[in-house]
Amino acid sequence: MRKLAYPGLLAATFLLGLTAGWLPFGQQIDSDAYDFFFRLYRPAPWTPESIILAADEASFQAFGGLFKLRNAMAVGLNRIRAVHPRALALDIILMEKSDDPAGDAALEDAFQRTSNLVLPSFLSEDGARWDDPLPRFRQWATAIGEVHATPDKRDAINRDIPLQEVAARERRWALALEAFRVSRRAPITEFPDSLHVGSTVVPSPLPGRMMRVRYSVTGIPRVSLKQLADKPSLAERFRGKVVFAGVTAQAMGDRWMTPLSNSVNVPGIEIHANAYETIAHQLFLTDAPKLWVVLVCLAFVASAGLTFALLDGWPANVAAAGILVVAHVLPYVFFKHNIVFPYTPGAACAWLAIVTAAAWRHIVVRRKLGQSETARSQYREAMQFVTHEMKTPLTAIQGSSELISRYAMTDEKRKQMADMINAESKRLAQMIETFLNVERLSAGQMQLKRESFSPLEIVARCIDRVRPVADRKSIAIQMEALPQGALIGDRELMEYAFYNLLTNAVKYSPPKTTVTVSGERQKDRVRVSVADQGIGIDAKDTRRIFEKFYRTKTAEQSGEKGTGIGLSIVEQIVIQHGGSISVDSEVGKGSRFTVSLPSLQ
Ligand code: ADP
Repeated sequence: MRKLAYPGLLAATFLLGLTAGWLPFGQQIDSDAYDFFFRLYRPAPWTPESIILAADEASFQAFGGLFKLRNAMAVGLNRIRAVHPRALALDIILMEKSDDPAGDAALEDAFQRTSNLVLPSFLSEDGARWDDPLPRFRQWATAIGEVHATPDKRDAINRDIPLQEVAARERRWALALEAFRVSRRAPITEFPDSLHVGSTVVPSPLPGRMMRVRYSVTGIPRVSLKQLADKPSLAERFRGKVVFAGVTAQAMGDRWMTPLSNSVNVPGIEIHANAYETIAHQLFLTDAPKLWVVLVCLAFVASAGLTFALLDGWPANVAAAGILVVAHVLPYVFFKHNIVFPYTPGAACAWLAIVTAAAWRHIVVRRKLGQSETARSQYREAMQFVTHEMKTPLTAIQGSSELISRYAMTDEKRKQMADMINAESKRLAQMIETFLNVERLSAGQMQLKRESFSPLEIVARCIDRVRPVADRKSIAIQMEALPQGALIGDRELMEYAFYNLLTNAVKYSPPKTTVTVSGERQKDRVRVSVADQGIGIDAKDTRRIFEKFYRTKTAEQSGEKGTGIGLSIVEQIVIQHGGSISVDSEVGKGSRFTVSLPSLQ
């Protein structure tokens, strides 16, 4: 469970990061980052193919205001005709008669003599129909292009334009696209993901066929109607160009913000011209496929997870910082390659995963530190106990041998002393042997003897050995029927194991209780249980008591001395014999240790 927690948490950060990218807030950040990249990255300048013929404030003043716009435009068109512009796209309202019949006639006349003329079509306010130029104008147009603006709903910035719009079941291509088609004299061929015009492929997937406009940093050349009137030689600048003619005067509306405009509005005609440049110079900015985004986010989360799983200290921090830098810079690198990679999901995934992984690491390290600290202090206590236990026989041996050598004593006394020295050194040797056995057993270095013995006999002997201690606490030891028959193994070790279980049962039980030993045969196994009515073991401790040096809090509070080694040896012995040991216990009620061993008969 704990193993799955870490990947599970990381998976959650991954999903959260991706979701952040879908939220409006995340998308606004993406857009802001996009605008920022736009201002930061300047692609190699190109020579514009288009030029703007502007009806600006000065022109309106010179020609007599909006009232005379058609006339002014007609004059302009007539001026540039001689230099043969490649196409002329016009973005002024032509769907009604004006109050200046002479102007209307002049414009119609100018149209008639203008080749490759593209006139605008407006989407009605309710979006239900097309408002086309009057037939008298329209008849001279080579194409009609829609001029519908679609600024971002959140911040009113014009980042992309639809290359097609449909109203009243009639589809119109964008003015810029029509101007391009007309200038190239090639048809538009439709594909689900792109439009082909001659050899130019315009990425613009259905359904919206949106195309991001690459706004020119240097701007599109512009000549106003007034400038052209004042200085006819300026007409030369229109030679061979695609002309976008329209109103640029601020008061006339049709102005929009762009990523480059720094909150200043740009006239619609300039946006059309920029869209034209985008197509003509194939400066397309396309969205990174969704799968890339998902995979890159996954890579950020996985590398953050691995960083904190595999590295420690400052290398982990440096690697994490590296991931963050990549997450923040990658969208810009993509942008430089004309691919728009959303900023939020990557950055959100990287940050979330790093913070989560670092927090997780911190918690795990603290827990491990705590565990090793307890293990160390348990080991220290056990060692103190062991050395203390060894000192007792050593002191007896030292004292007795000194007495013998210093003082004259009777033969009987001397024999008594010698016997004591002998007994105590045996005890010492036994103790050392036990501790060494633990190490050897757990290291798997100990060769088990293979002798046949009866569990009944072993248990009976252990009970005899424990009885004096049990009597001191008025604890009764009951032996219920044990299965007959023999087991194969190391009798001495097995006796040690049962002796240990019995000593513990007596040690951790209050006076005037009963310890019961019982057994049964189950097919090819023999089970022997030692049950007591003692302090019991908490459920969470039942696995840990078999660890070396582990003692329960209850046992420590009981005041009984111990090393926490006994059960680890018992478990090793049982396992080496192909058996298993388990414990059932309830705090305050008692414990039952059950050893299950393979039997021969
Ligand atoms: P020791 O008894 O020297 O502490 P053991 O390895 O024999 O070490 O036992 C480990 C721990 O298991 C004991 O400290 C005690 O907390 C718990 N334990 C063992 N046997 C019993 C029992 N019969 N009743 C309650 N707790 C027990």
